[in-house]
Amino acid sequence: MGADDNDEGRAASGPGHEVGEASLHAPVLPVSLVEGRSALVGELVVRRTLPTRGRRMVGAWCFADHMGPQSLDPGRSIDIAPHPHIGLQTVTWLFSGEFLHRDSLGSEQLIRPGQLNLMTAGHGVAHAEESPGRSSGVLHGVQLWVAQPNATREGESRFEHVAELPRVDLANAVATVVVGDFGGVRSPARRDTEHVALELDLHGGATDVSLRANHEYALIVVAGEVLVDGVIAASGQLAFIEAGRDEIRLSARDGARAMLIGGVPFDERVFMWWNFVARTKEEIADAWLAWASGAERFAAVASRFARIDVAPPPWVLPTK
Ligand code: MN
Repeated sequence: MGADDNDEGRAASGPGHEVGEASLHAPVLPVSLVEGRSALVGELVVRRTLPTRGRRMVGAWCFADHMGPQSLDPGRSIDIAPHPHIGLQTVTWLFSGEFLHRDSLGSEQLIRPGQLNLMTAGHGVAHAEESPGRSSGVLHGVQLWVAQPNATREGESRFEHVAELPRVDLANAVATVVVGDFGGVRSPARRDTEHVALELDLHGGATDVSLRANHEYALIVVAGEVLVDGVIAASGQLAFIEAGRDEIRLSARDGARAMLIGGVPFDERVFMWWNFVARTKEEIADAWLAWASGAERFAAVASRFARIDVAPPPWVLPTK
Protein backbone atom coordinates (compact mmCIF):
# COMPACT_ATOMS: atom_id res chain seq x y z
CA MET A 1 0.00 0.00 0.00
CA GLY A 2 1.10 3.55 -0.36
CA ALA A 3 2.75 2.58 -3.57
CA ASP A 4 1.39 5.52 -5.50
CA ASP A 5 1.86 7.92 -2.67
CA ASN A 6 4.74 9.81 -4.11
CA ASP A 7 4.62 12.71 -1.70
CA GLU A 8 7.61 14.86 -1.13
CA GLY A 9 9.71 13.78 1.80
CA ARG A 10 8.03 14.31 5.07
CA ALA A 11 9.50 14.35 8.49
CA ALA A 12 7.80 13.17 11.60
CA SER A 13 9.12 13.63 15.04
CA GLY A 14 7.74 12.11 18.17
CA PRO A 15 5.71 14.43 20.33
CA GLY A 16 8.11 16.19 22.60
CA HIS A 17 6.24 15.72 25.81
CA GLU A 18 6.88 13.32 28.61
CA VAL A 19 4.11 11.56 30.41
CA GLY A 20 5.20 11.36 33.98
CA GLU A 21 3.47 10.71 37.24
CA ALA A 22 2.37 14.31 37.55
CA SER A 23 0.47 14.33 34.25
CA LEU A 24 -1.75 11.48 35.40
CA HIS A 25 -3.42 13.98 37.69
CA ALA A 26 -3.46 16.82 35.18
CA PRO A 27 -6.73 17.93 33.58
CA VAL A 28 -7.88 15.59 30.81
CA LEU A 29 -6.89 16.98 27.43
CA PRO A 30 -9.60 17.34 24.81
CA VAL A 31 -9.89 14.95 21.90
CA SER A 32 -8.85 16.55 18.60
CA LEU A 33 -10.17 15.70 15.16
CA VAL A 34 -7.85 15.31 12.17
CA GLU A 35 -9.31 15.28 8.65
CA GLY A 36 -7.97 12.57 6.39
CA ARG A 37 -7.53 13.04 2.66
CA SER A 38 -8.49 10.91 -0.30
CA ALA A 39 -5.74 9.21 -2.22
CA LEU A 40 -5.46 6.61 -4.95
CA VAL A 41 -3.33 3.51 -4.48
CA GLY A 42 -3.41 2.03 -7.94
CA GLU A 43 -7.14 2.25 -8.68
CA LEU A 44 -8.07 1.73 -5.06
CA VAL A 45 -9.63 4.71 -3.31
CA VAL A 46 -8.34 5.26 0.23
CA ARG A 47 -8.81 7.81 2.98
CA ARG A 48 -5.45 8.57 4.54
CA THR A 49 -5.60 9.80 8.13
CA LEU A 50 -1.88 9.35 8.91
CA PRO A 51 0.36 11.12 8.27
CA THR A 52 -1.28 14.52 7.95
CA ARG A 53 0.06 17.99 8.54
CA GLY A 54 -1.63 18.05 11.90
CA ARG A 55 -0.56 14.63 13.10
CA ARG A 56 2.44 12.61 11.89
CA MET A 57 2.40 9.65 14.25
CA VAL A 58 0.38 7.97 16.98
CA GLY A 59 2.82 5.96 19.07
CA ALA A 60 4.84 4.03 16.46
CA TRP A 61 1.93 4.12 13.97
CA CYS A 62 3.01 6.29 11.06
CA PHE A 63 0.53 5.59 8.25
CA ALA A 64 -3.16 4.77 8.09
CA ASP A 65 -5.16 4.08 4.93
CA HIS A 66 -8.85 3.19 5.04
CA MET A 67 -9.56 1.21 1.84
CA GLY A 68 -12.97 1.10 0.23
CA PRO A 69 -15.66 -0.08 0.52
CA GLN A 70 -15.01 -0.75 -3.15
CA SER A 71 -16.44 -3.38 -5.50
CA LEU A 72 -14.12 -6.21 -6.45
CA ASP A 73 -15.66 -6.56 -9.91
CA PRO A 74 -13.17 -8.20 -12.25
CA GLY A 75 -13.21 -5.09 -14.45
CA ARG A 76 -12.08 -2.89 -11.61
CA SER A 77 -8.46 -3.49 -10.73
CA ILE A 78 -7.40 -3.08 -7.13
CA ASP A 79 -4.08 -4.79 -7.67
CA ILE A 80 -1.00 -3.19 -6.20
CA ALA A 81 2.06 -4.28 -8.15
CA PRO A 82 5.40 -5.21 -6.53
CA HIS A 83 7.01 -2.39 -4.58
CA PRO A 84 9.60 -2.15 -1.79
CA HIS A 85 9.49 -1.22 1.89
CA ILE A 86 12.10 -0.56 4.56
CA GLY A 87 11.95 0.17 8.27
CA LEU A 88 8.26 -0.53 8.89
CA GLN A 89 5.62 -3.17 9.47
CA THR A 90 2.53 -3.31 7.28
CA VAL A 91 -0.66 -4.32 9.08
CA THR A 92 -3.39 -5.39 6.66
CA TRP A 93 -6.84 -5.91 8.16
CA LEU A 94 -10.07 -6.44 6.25
CA PHE A 95 -13.73 -5.97 7.16
CA SER A 96 -14.91 -7.54 3.90
CA GLY A 97 -13.45 -8.86 0.68
CA GLU A 98 -10.15 -10.62 0.08
CA PHE A 99 -6.58 -9.72 -0.84
CA LEU A 100 -3.72 -11.93 -1.99
CA HIS A 101 -0.33 -11.08 -0.52
CA ARG A 102 2.91 -12.08 -2.28
CA ASP A 103 6.37 -11.03 -1.14
CA SER A 104 10.08 -11.38 -1.81
CA LEU A 105 10.39 -13.92 1.02
CA GLY A 106 8.29 -16.29 -1.09
CA SER A 107 5.10 -15.84 0.93
CA GLU A 108 1.75 -16.20 -0.81
CA GLN A 109 -1.17 -15.64 1.53
CA LEU A 110 -4.84 -14.94 1.01
CA ILE A 111 -6.27 -12.69 3.69
CA ARG A 112 -9.92 -12.65 4.73
CA PRO A 113 -11.88 -10.51 7.19
CA GLY A 114 -10.82 -11.03 10.79
CA GLN A 115 -7.35 -12.20 9.78
CA LEU A 116 -4.08 -10.33 10.07
CA ASN A 117 -1.31 -10.04 7.52
CA LEU A 118 1.76 -8.54 9.17
CA MET A 119 4.90 -7.89 7.15
CA THR A 120 8.05 -6.67 8.84
CA ALA A 121 10.29 -4.94 6.31
CA GLY A 122 13.49 -4.43 8.31
CA HIS A 123 16.39 -3.72 5.92
CA GLY A 124 14.23 -4.41 2.88
CA VAL A 125 11.35 -6.41 1.47
CA ALA A 126 9.12 -6.18 -1.59
CA HIS A 127 5.52 -7.27 -1.94
CA ALA A 128 2.41 -7.15 -4.09
CA GLU A 129 -1.21 -7.05 -3.01
CA GLU A 130 -3.51 -8.53 -5.60
CA SER A 131 -7.16 -9.16 -6.13
CA PRO A 132 -7.65 -12.93 -5.76
CA GLY A 133 -8.95 -13.00 -9.33
CA ARG A 134 -12.48 -14.10 -8.56
CA SER A 135 -15.59 -12.33 -7.44
CA SER A 136 -15.08 -11.62 -3.78
CA GLY A 137 -17.64 -8.94 -3.11
CA VAL A 138 -16.63 -5.61 -1.69
CA LEU A 139 -13.16 -4.75 -0.46
CA HIS A 140 -13.21 -2.85 2.83
CA GLY A 141 -10.30 -2.64 5.22
CA VAL A 142 -7.32 -0.77 6.52
CA GLN A 143 -3.62 -0.83 5.97
CA LEU A 144 -1.55 0.61 8.77
CA TRP A 145 2.20 1.01 9.09
CA VAL A 146 4.25 0.77 12.24
CA ALA A 147 7.67 2.46 12.29
CA GLN A 148 10.31 0.00 13.45
CA PRO A 149 12.67 1.23 16.16
CA ASN A 150 16.43 1.56 15.63
CA ALA A 151 16.90 -1.74 17.44
CA THR A 152 15.23 -3.76 14.64
CA ARG A 153 14.79 -1.56 11.59
CA GLU A 154 17.96 -2.82 9.87
CA GLY A 155 17.13 -6.43 10.68
CA GLU A 156 15.65 -9.33 8.74
CA SER A 157 12.32 -9.07 7.00
CA ARG A 158 9.52 -11.42 7.93
CA PHE A 159 5.90 -12.18 7.07
CA GLU A 160 3.27 -13.60 9.37
CA HIS A 161 -0.41 -14.43 8.97
CA VAL A 162 -2.69 -14.78 11.97
CA ALA A 163 -5.96 -16.52 11.10
CA GLU A 164 -7.71 -15.84 14.40
CA LEU A 165 -7.34 -12.99 16.85
CA PRO A 166 -8.58 -12.78 20.43
CA ARG A 167 -11.79 -10.87 21.19
CA VAL A 168 -12.97 -9.06 24.27
CA ASP A 169 -16.64 -8.41 25.07
CA LEU A 170 -17.29 -4.87 26.27
CA ALA A 171 -20.52 -3.10 27.15
CA ASN A 172 -22.32 -2.58 23.81
CA ALA A 173 -19.24 -3.58 21.83
CA VAL A 174 -16.75 -6.26 20.88
CA ALA A 175 -13.03 -5.52 20.62
CA THR A 176 -10.76 -7.65 18.44
CA VAL A 177 -7.13 -7.43 19.54
CA VAL A 178 -5.23 -7.16 16.25
CA VAL A 179 -1.85 -6.12 17.67
CA GLY A 180 -0.68 -5.85 21.27
CA ASP A 181 -2.71 -6.64 24.35
CA PHE A 182 -6.00 -5.44 25.73
CA GLY A 183 -8.48 -6.65 28.32
CA GLY A 184 -6.24 -9.48 29.48
CA VAL A 185 -5.68 -11.06 26.06
CA ARG A 186 -2.83 -10.68 23.61
CA SER A 187 -2.42 -10.84 19.85
CA PRO A 188 0.37 -13.21 18.78
CA ALA A 189 1.55 -10.67 16.19
CA ARG A 190 5.15 -9.51 16.43
CA ARG A 191 5.71 -6.16 18.12
CA ASP A 192 8.98 -4.23 18.22
CA THR A 193 7.60 -1.36 20.30
CA GLU A 194 4.83 -0.96 22.83
CA HIS A 195 1.73 -0.38 20.68
CA VAL A 196 -1.77 -1.69 20.19
CA ALA A 197 -4.47 -1.94 17.52
CA LEU A 198 -8.07 -2.93 18.17
CA GLU A 199 -11.06 -3.30 15.90
CA LEU A 200 -14.07 -1.97 17.78
CA ASP A 201 -17.53 -3.09 16.71
CA LEU A 202 -19.87 -0.73 18.49
CA HIS A 203 -23.43 -2.01 18.69
CA GLY A 204 -24.97 1.28 19.80
CA GLY A 205 -24.93 2.98 23.17
CA ALA A 206 -21.98 3.83 25.37
CA THR A 207 -18.80 1.79 25.63
CA ASP A 208 -16.01 2.55 28.08
CA VAL A 209 -12.63 1.48 26.74
CA SER A 210 -9.70 1.24 29.13
CA LEU A 211 -6.54 3.01 28.01
CA ARG A 212 -2.92 3.04 29.17
CA ALA A 213 -1.87 6.40 30.55
CA ASN A 214 1.55 6.16 28.89
CA HIS A 215 -0.03 5.63 25.45
CA GLU A 216 -1.42 8.16 23.02
CA TYR A 217 -4.30 6.89 20.87
CA ALA A 218 -6.30 7.57 17.73
CA LEU A 219 -9.74 6.34 16.80
CA ILE A 220 -10.14 5.83 13.06
CA VAL A 221 -13.82 5.45 12.20
CA VAL A 222 -14.54 3.24 9.19
CA ALA A 223 -18.35 3.00 9.37
CA GLY A 224 -20.94 5.14 11.12
CA GLU A 225 -20.23 7.90 13.59
CA VAL A 226 -18.70 7.73 17.04
CA LEU A 227 -19.01 10.28 19.81
CA VAL A 228 -15.60 10.51 21.48
CA ASP A 229 -15.60 12.70 24.56
CA GLY A 230 -18.11 15.13 23.05
CA VAL A 231 -16.47 15.14 19.61
CA ILE A 232 -18.22 13.38 16.71
CA ALA A 233 -15.81 11.37 14.57
CA ALA A 234 -16.99 10.02 11.21
CA SER A 235 -15.48 7.90 8.45
CA GLY A 236 -12.42 9.63 7.01
CA GLN A 237 -11.52 11.34 10.27
CA LEU A 238 -9.08 10.47 13.02
CA ALA A 239 -9.84 11.40 16.62
CA PHE A 240 -6.57 11.90 18.49
CA ILE A 241 -6.52 11.13 22.20
CA GLU A 242 -3.56 12.54 24.13
CA ALA A 243 -1.62 10.36 26.55
CA GLY A 244 -2.43 10.57 30.23
CA ARG A 245 -5.86 8.90 30.36
CA ASP A 246 -6.91 5.53 31.66
CA GLU A 247 -10.34 5.33 30.00
CA ILE A 248 -12.43 6.84 27.23
CA ARG A 249 -16.15 6.68 26.57
CA LEU A 250 -17.27 5.95 23.01
CA SER A 251 -20.91 6.28 21.98
CA ALA A 252 -22.45 5.20 18.72
CA ARG A 253 -26.15 5.84 18.39
CA ASP A 254 -26.75 3.46 15.49
CA GLY A 255 -23.75 1.21 15.70
CA ALA A 256 -20.36 1.88 14.18
CA ARG A 257 -17.01 0.32 13.45
CA ALA A 258 -13.60 1.83 14.17
CA MET A 259 -9.95 1.01 14.66
CA LEU A 260 -8.32 2.17 17.87
CA ILE A 261 -4.55 2.46 17.52
CA GLY A 262 -2.17 3.62 20.21
CA GLY A 263 1.24 3.35 21.73
CA VAL A 264 4.00 4.95 23.71
CA PRO A 265 4.97 8.19 21.89
CA PHE A 266 7.75 7.29 19.43
CA ASP A 267 10.94 8.99 20.51
CA GLU A 268 13.01 8.54 17.34
CA ARG A 269 12.84 11.10 14.55
CA VAL A 270 11.28 9.42 11.53
CA PHE A 271 11.73 10.40 7.90
CA MET A 272 9.28 8.94 5.35
CA TRP A 273 9.31 9.02 1.58
CA TRP A 274 7.29 6.80 -0.78
CA ASN A 275 7.20 3.35 0.85
CA PHE A 276 10.26 3.87 3.00
CA VAL A 277 10.46 4.70 6.69
CA ALA A 278 13.95 5.75 7.75
CA ARG A 279 15.79 8.47 9.65
CA THR A 280 17.76 10.36 6.99
CA LYS A 281 17.55 11.36 3.32
CA GLU A 282 20.69 9.33 2.65
CA GLU A 283 19.03 6.13 3.89
CA ILE A 284 16.02 6.82 1.67
CA ALA A 285 18.23 7.54 -1.35
CA ASP A 286 20.12 4.27 -0.77
CA ALA A 287 16.85 2.31 -0.64
CA TRP A 288 15.52 4.00 -3.76
CA LEU A 289 18.75 3.26 -5.67
CA ALA A 290 18.72 -0.38 -4.52
CA TRP A 291 15.17 -0.80 -5.82
CA ALA A 292 15.75 1.16 -9.05
CA SER A 293 18.90 -0.81 -9.87
CA GLY A 294 17.41 -4.20 -9.03
CA ALA A 295 19.97 -4.80 -6.28
CA GLU A 296 19.59 -7.94 -4.19
CA ARG A 297 18.47 -5.90 -1.18
CA PHE A 298 14.98 -6.36 -2.64
CA ALA A 299 14.44 -9.84 -4.02
CA ALA A 300 11.89 -10.56 -6.75
CA VAL A 301 8.17 -11.03 -6.06
CA ALA A 302 6.36 -13.81 -7.95
CA SER A 303 3.64 -11.51 -9.25
CA ARG A 304 2.10 -11.30 -12.72
CA PHE A 305 2.34 -7.53 -12.45
CA ALA A 306 5.34 -5.43 -13.42
CA ARG A 307 7.13 -3.82 -10.52
CA ILE A 308 6.42 -0.20 -9.65
CA ASP A 309 9.20 2.23 -10.38
CA VAL A 310 9.29 5.85 -9.30
CA ALA A 311 11.50 8.82 -10.03
CA PRO A 312 14.27 9.41 -7.52
CA PRO A 313 13.55 11.47 -4.45
CA PRO A 314 13.93 15.18 -5.29
CA TRP A 315 17.13 15.63 -3.29
CA VAL A 316 18.82 12.97 -5.45
CA LEU A 317 18.23 14.78 -8.76
CA PRO A 318 21.27 16.37 -10.41
CA THR A 319 21.46 20.10 -9.68
CA LYS A 320 22.19 21.20 -13.25
MN1 MN B 1 3.07 -2.02 0.43
